Amino acid sequence: MKEVIIRLENVSREYDNGKIRAVRNINLEVLTGEFIVLLGSSGSGKTTLLNLMTGLDTPTSGRVYINGKTPKNGSQWSRIRSQTIGFIFQSFNLIPTLTARENVEIPMFGSPVNSRQREKRASFLLEKVGLSHRTSHLPSALSGGERQRVAIARSLANRPALLMADEPTGNLDSKTSARVMDLIYDIHVSEKNTLVVVTHDRTIAEHGDRIIRISDGRLIRNKM
Ligand code: ADP
Ligand code: MG
Repeated sequence: MKEVIIRLENVSREYDNGKIRAVRNINLEVLTGEFIVLLGSSGSGKTTLLNLMTGLDTPTSGRVYINGKTPKNGSQWSRIRSQTIGFIFQSFNLIPTLTARENVEIPMFGSPVNSRQREKRASFLLEKVGLSHRTSHLPSALSGGERQRVAIARSLANRPALLMADEPTGNLDSKTSARVMDLIYDIHVSEKNTLVVVTHDRTIAEHGDRIIRISDGRLIRNKM
């Protein structure tokens, strides 16, 4: 039976003393193994919602549960993120002075593996995303699609149960976007992880088990 991995209970996030209501009274359950698409236009509250789901932001009101519990503080969230959540961002967020392989190794510094195991896993993951010929390159020597592949490999470093992608194809042309999204989808299927993808692109939304629309900080449809 599927379990609830993330639950949001009446979650709101306001800014500027309530002048901006980025996320309004959201109730949502994310089940283990499902692929959820959060679809909404720019400024609708998608990134805020993702940040609330992963403890990168704190709700003004309401509660967030992960595996049935509300993390008590930033350090509990931080441990949960490093052990169970992989992140993929629109702008890749690679460290420009580190090679592809070193970028992939970064999340593993918080886990009990030695340098040889780190290197081995990073090389394995880069091979998995089709970049075994680019492991020693700096991000500046890679195309946008290749950079996002490195970021995808990095997101998998600690075998996360949950993968969160915020506009993962937002900086890519349409052909590269389709390839990157196929890769994320294939990984979701083979790793059996829970996948949450935030996008304003309807073609990406088609991959999802469930599409959740967000407009003006509210969920407007929750279709199974
Ligand atoms: P999306 O990711 O869907 O484009 P965001 O979650 O980034 O939307 O933003 C939702 C709304 O909240 C926007 O109106 C945005 O300007 C506002 N917002 C986001 N972050 C902040 C912040 N730190 N301070 C003030 N307003 C913010
Ligand atoms: Mg956003």
